[in-house]
Amino acid sequence: MTEARGAVTAAGWAGAVERLAAARRLLVALDFDGTLAPLVADPDLSRMAPGAASALARLSLIGRVQLALVSGRPAADLARLAQPPGGTLLVGSHGAERGRMAGGRAALEPVALSPARADRLKAISSGLARLAASAPGAWVEAKPFAAVFHTRPMANRDAAARLQARAAELGRDLGGHVLPGKMVVEVSVLPAGKAAALARLKRAVQADRLVFAGDDTTDELALRQIRPPDLGIKVGLGRTAAELRLPDPPAVVRFLDHLATALAA
Ligand SMILES: [Mg+2]
Repeated sequence: MTEARGAVTAAGWAGAVERLAAARRLLVALDFDGTLAPLVADPDLSRMAPGAASALARLSLIGRVQLALVSGRPAADLARLAQPPGGTLLVGSHGAERGRMAGGRAALEPVALSPARADRLKAISSGLARLAASAPGAWVEAKPFAAVFHTRPMANRDAAARLQARAAELGRDLGGHVLPGKMVVEVSVLPAGKAAALARLKRAVQADRLVFAGDDTTDELALRQIRPPDLGIKVGLGRTAAELRLPDPPAVVRFLDHLATALAA
């Protein structure tokens, strides 16, 4: 693993936090898995790191802060697992779904798949399911607009990587948008991406500063677009264009707490 930029030092944080705290309106956009919640083999058992809920609650009470969760998960799942504060904006399925947290659940803008896209999704799902059946441990998750090929439970990493490459190729052949991640390949029938989703969110909430934290390859595309005074945070190892690096979800929680304190001062 190589590290391009990104400091983990408290001094590195302090400058970045000060810059964000000067915002008239700050968009705090966070990925969920691997960023607020440690990665787990079963995505349904994912839980936020200790202290994350209270850090989000503190931020949500600051009038000039708009919180947003930006995830590859379906927005309804994201809302159920993260239980973010009311008013948090939700961006699910890598930008294909949008909504807001209200009354403890996701109030989503309706998205309908055209018949052609619904057929394409069926073909992609069954193609990936056949591929998964050939390798014990591989499995396919169904999402509203995508099928996700998982290889995390496979013991042999080389075989898993080869299988992922085949899943990506199959997805492209069947006309899907392929988003490779850590031991997953997502094949979506809607064009989506976190970079475009973040730019749209920032405009929509009229924020003059943005901070975004994410851990995965799909987040990296968004991190590459972020320039000061906005702040990009890479969580974990791996090459990144982000200005700041934090090692894991507990460090993200400490950063968010620090930010809430600076904003409230
Ligand atoms: Mg993630």
